[in-house]
Amino acid sequence: MAATGRGMGVDVTLVGLGAAVLADQLGDLVGGMLTRLHAERAVRLRLGVAVEGLSGSGGRVSGVRLASGELLPAETVVVAIGSRPATGWLHGSGLSVRDGVRCDSRCRAAPGVYAVGDLASWHHEKLDRRLRLENRTNAVEQAQIVAANLLGEDRPYVPLPYFWTDQYDTKIQAHGFFPPGARADVVEGDLEQNRFVALYHLEGKVTGVLGWNMAKAARLHRGRVADAIGV
Ligand SMILES: Cc1cc2nc3c(=O)[nH]c(=O)nc-3n(C[C@H](O)[C@H](O)[C@H](O)COP(=O)(O)OP(=O)(O)OC[C@H]3O[C@@H](n4cnc5c(N)ncnc54)[C@H](O)[C@@H]3O)c2cc1C
Repeated sequence: MAATGRGMGVDVTLVGLGAAVLADQLGDLVGGMLTRLHAERAVRLRLGVAVEGLSGSGGRVSGVRLASGELLPAETVVVAIGSRPATGWLHGSGLSVRDGVRCDSRCRAAPGVYAVGDLASWHHEKLDRRLRLENRTNAVEQAQIVAANLLGEDRPYVPLPYFWTDQYDTKIQAHGFFPPGARADVVEGDLEQNRFVALYHLEGKVTGVLGWNMAKAARLHRGRVADAIGV
């Protein structure tokens, strides 16, 4: 949104709790690069600070109040702070609905009850951890597994997640997982040339690969990630 806004010549201020853009999701290395990228394109950054509220009158917003006391003038505000699964209607059903509908590795919440998509939290057998993903690829791939299981198969859902994002002329592709604390090592290209592939490791194990203007090379490393995870 920030990149598109700047591309249209709009003044943009990006506010976030993290110390760098997307550092919580992609680590400090890529977070630092993204922060620089937006700063170079004249996005005003207010990082590491919470939004306290909006100000305005007559039903129109005129500013954003920060916890630091600063009031940012604003004509348009985009709120992008995540979402919560709408599971209220399932309370009292007997299903566990803490952070989505809690499923086993087959995406089964209870005998004869399955969940897919944004609201399904399931046990990824190969990672041995619970995941809940919010993207279309996941909704489609998970539904395929659930359809097969409904028809009598017994398949675990063990995807290697993938997402991409284009910011200005920078194209980022990410395969796998980017857990907090993972180390990112540049294995191809370099930061100075604005083209690199970073492999993420946690506790000695490869968890993900990210391409920064190197989509093809990142895809070639995807196999290493899949092998390491066993999917
Ligand atoms: C602004 C935005 C941009 C996005 N951009 C991307 C993107 O670029 N790429 C990407 O991969 N993903 C993107 N996503 C995420 C993607 O839209 C979701 O991951 C995907 O739609 C999940 O599919 P789903 O079927 O799980 O849920 P949904 O598509 O949300 O479908 C759930 C449906 O259930 C209905 N529903 C809810 N409660 C009830 C009820 N009690 N009774 C009956 N019906 C009910 C809802 O009305 C809705 O129609 C975006 C999401 C948002 C909000």
